[in-house]
Amino acid sequence: MLQPRSAAAVVVLFSALAAGAQQPTPQQTEAVRRGAGDTSIFAPLDLYPSPNVYRTGDGRPGAHYWQQRADYDLHATLDTANKSLSASMTMRYTNNSPDTLRFIWVQTEQNAFRPGSLNTLVFAPDSRFGSRSFVGGDVIDHFNQVVNGHATPLKLRDNGTVTKVDLAEPLAPGKTATFDAAWHFLIPEHGADRMGRDGSLFELAQWYPRVNVYDDVRGWNTEPYLGQGEFYLEYGDFNLSVTVPSGYIVAATGTLANPREVLTPTEISRLAKAAKSDTPVPIITASDLTSGAARPRTTGTMTWRFKAHNVRDVAWAASPEYQWDASSWKGILAQAYYRPSAAINWDDAADQARMSIQEYSERWFMYPYPQITAVEGPISGMEYPMLAMETKSRDKPDLYNVVTHEIGHNWFPMIVGSNERVQFWQDEGFNTFINTFSEARRYPQNGNQMQRAAEERAQVEQTQKLNIDVPIITNPDRIDPRKLGFTEYVKTSVGLQLLRQEIMGPAAFDDAFKEYTRRWAFKHPTPTDFFRTMESVGGQRLDWFWREWFFEDPHFDQAIESVQTADSSGVQHVRVVYGNRARGVLPIRAHFTFSDGTTQDFEYPALVWSTNSVRYVREYDFTGKTVKRIDLDPDRRLVDVDRTNNSWMAQ
Ligand SMILES: [Zn+2]
Repeated sequence: MLQPRSAAAVVVLFSALAAGAQQPTPQQTEAVRRGAGDTSIFAPLDLYPSPNVYRTGDGRPGAHYWQQRADYDLHATLDTANKSLSASMTMRYTNNSPDTLRFIWVQTEQNAFRPGSLNTLVFAPDSRFGSRSFVGGDVIDHFNQVVNGHATPLKLRDNGTVTKVDLAEPLAPGKTATFDAAWHFLIPEHGADRMGRDGSLFELAQWYPRVNVYDDVRGWNTEPYLGQGEFYLEYGDFNLSVTVPSGYIVAATGTLANPREVLTPTEISRLAKAAKSDTPVPIITASDLTSGAARPRTTGTMTWRFKAHNVRDVAWAASPEYQWDASSWKGILAQAYYRPSAAINWDDAADQARMSIQEYSERWFMYPYPQITAVEGPISGMEYPMLAMETKSRDKPDLYNVVTHEIGHNWFPMIVGSNERVQFWQDEGFNTFINTFSEARRYPQNGNQMQRAAEERAQVEQTQKLNIDVPIITNPDRIDPRKLGFTEYVKTSVGLQLLRQEIMGPAAFDDAFKEYTRRWAFKHPTPTDFFRTMESVGGQRLDWFWREWFFEDPHFDQAIESVQTADSSGVQHVRVVYGNRARGVLPIRAHFTFSDGTTQDFEYPALVWSTNSVRYVREYDFTGKTVKRIDLDPDRRLVDVDRTNNSWMAQ
């Protein structure tokens, strides 16, 4: 999902929030203060869950790690006249847990858009996640379990956006249950900025009863779908068929399985060319759309078939007006679908998609899917496996900002399948961090990666100064929507950047971050698995950093408390008392300027605060020169809520 990103909007937002800010309160959660009354920032962190056979002490999946699997055959029929979808599925659910299951939970997320839903009570109708007075909701036509070839209707309990399904017979460990279901719903125009429609264009997501995750940490994950918190889903293989009017063009998660039935011979040959091309090849042009050459026929309906392997979701978009470009990178098709009215920016989108998968693959983890698609439509920025939804955008850099963000989500959380509904930062923040490299790669003239990180750091510093920040670990559905962007996206990204540049060093950080991605690809990591992997691979304990950056949210304020100098026989003796006036600790970066115009930098790790968290004393001898001034963090590589106490000047 896209975060608010206009600089002007951020300034307005910050001042609005600051006006309502509370008095400073130490946001020190009990969870991180457990243990022997040791309230030091450096106290051992009591991470949850404790190491066990499922998740090891060094952050790996354990010897008995398990996760459930769900394979779907999905059939959707779009009724463009009534703006409704009717669909059916066969879902095979494999119980890899050691537990016998008597029920499952499935997500009925269209219920967010029915009257009286929790969403309508929490969000104003005209807000981003509001219903806009639309009346919809999931209607389940049937939900059966197939046992020995016989379909048994199951008892369902509607719990809003999640529904409990009692099984016809208990599902033992290692066994697979097969379900057969049908449902329909009216498609909202504005589906909480995650799906919707615009004229004849439809973007469909959260559209089938996706089974909830049952895991070793929390059992059934049944948090309601409110809009802010996103999704937590099982992996599986999908066969998808989408029946639309023949004049429509469909983009979807997966590989098109029946091109000869839905494309023209010209389009098939253009696609073959695109599959070997570094630059975009038009598959359907604007003139194909106006001349009628875009479709093999325009009467009746047509069924598009897609196959997707090892994904956690499928989404799709359909429009009779889609232009279509494609190129490829290492055999992976990079595609863009957009209306001619969006072409002024979107003629760059296939190339933007291509660069995005190249960047993230080369730096972190190889993209595992056969294609990547960007689709234009009313949704301002939303991610699904192999499919990213974006709007027309102001200009090409603005479009890239969204395209590379939504495509970056293929790494977090589509490959690394964390729980977005509870730990928003574990995908949005990680993605925002990897985006800084991608943005710098495409538009180096607008700032390199370090400069982009510095802009984010200034934002975090500002939110702390205004006391409008909240701890990252907060459940996204409990955060004021206006604070979601700078808390979960920006602050997490800044934390990873600090770890990389100032605390671990790029070599250790990249080694550990890549290993986290590799270990947890197609699995369900918790925050603890991330923290432990970073420590174990990186080679240092970071309890203090996890506590201050993710859990407690203290502020940072280094100062120069005092400087004493004494001169004797050409040697200047200098004693500096560095101060730490807030609870948070960071490395010290002191920049000395001397009488002869030379300068010298002194850097000390954050651990120098471990025995005395408020004072750190250093003594220096300088020969043939005297200190003129000392500045802490002059190039603003750290976060500091009061920089007025960061400098000392000789009288
Ligand atoms: Zn996002």
